[in-house]
Amino acid sequence: NKAIYLNSRPIGKPKESDFKFVNEDKPEITNGEILLKTKFVSVDPYLRGRMSDAKSYVQPFKLNEPISSGCIAEVIESKNDSFKKGDFVSGSLDWKEYQTSKGENLLKVDENQAPLSAYLGVLGMTGLTAYFGLTDIGKPQKGETVVVSGAAGAVGSIVGQIAKILGCRVVGIAGTDEKVAMLKSKFGFDEAINYNTVKDMSKAIADACPNGVDVYFDNVGGDISDSVHVNINRLGRIIVCGAISAYNDTSAPTGPRVEHFLIRKSALMQGFIVGNYAEKFPEGMQQLSKWLKDDKLTYSETIVEGFDAIPQAFIDLFEGKNKGKMIVKI
Ligand code: NDP
Repeated sequence: NKAIYLNSRPIGKPKESDFKFVNEDKPEITNGEILLKTKFVSVDPYLRGRMSDAKSYVQPFKLNEPISSGCIAEVIESKNDSFKKGDFVSGSLDWKEYQTSKGENLLKVDENQAPLSAYLGVLGMTGLTAYFGLTDIGKPQKGETVVVSGAAGAVGSIVGQIAKILGCRVVGIAGTDEKVAMLKSKFGFDEAINYNTVKDMSKAIADACPNGVDVYFDNVGGDISDSVHVNINRLGRIIVCGAISAYNDTSAPTGPRVEHFLIRKSALMQGFIVGNYAEKFPEGMQQLSKWLKDDKLTYSETIVEGFDAIPQAFIDLFEGKNKGKMIVKI
């Protein structure tokens, strides 16, 4: 029974040696427990924060203990009346091939409603992040311009499509020409910008947004965000969802240059964590499922195979190797 432990706290970009493969005994269940076989593992940028020991909104992982993340698992044995063999569940689970659980905080997921992996993406944490961040903080109005960074990723690709459903002009920022093409052809963005090839990002955003930027959904922070901020409209809304460009920094970050956009433009800038909306998750999932069924929403996944591939899949997030949700299939 393979497991992956945190071997060392990454300094800068995470590397394979920060992770340790450990062979544990296959666990046995007692009354009230279920035995789970891991099927899909979600790797997410926020896990980088949990690998450091800095104080945050979630507990840091402990050294020499298993790492955990959102997973889909199959119940292969049950001594718990709420679960039967063959059920599939979603929840925060350890990076282990097999583990036991009392079933607390696990959600049953239905393979007939959506492919199992979708419960880690569009119908899971990242879809809900896109939905609540954009609608609750961004409050996009019909005809407004919405800019999304990290646009071809799990959260960003859903944000852009929801903004289109709500009648906005949508501009995405991503790191390769292939992603830029996909944003327009697959996800219906009006414009997309490759931040790795464009020389003047502020001008590129101004050109792509002739009426300025009303809502900015920020997944990346740093220079990219500086160039969006200078284009923000009066009473614009900036949703600070993530700052992946800074997650591997080894020095303290410099703050945003607020005088240009927050004060002069009376703009709102608000951070959030998706857990703030936990009580509304069923409502969010229902809406996302409906849009999926009505073909108003689509999604991409980058699925890599095999338990041993988990650390590299996580590391690859920082190289932009994924399109849409990065998932490991076991
Ligand atoms: P993604 O699927 O977007 O994967 C990460 C992407 O980030 C990569 O594909 C890459 O795309 C881009 N990226 C990597 N390094 C850089 C860099 N230095 N500068 C700019 N872009 C970079 O991940 P998620 O959709 O899961 O997460 C997106 C963001 O949302 C993250 O910042 C994450 O922490 C945050 N988040 C926040 C939540 C909350 O509750 N607030 C919940 C979930 C996620 P490219 O090729 O375009 O560079």
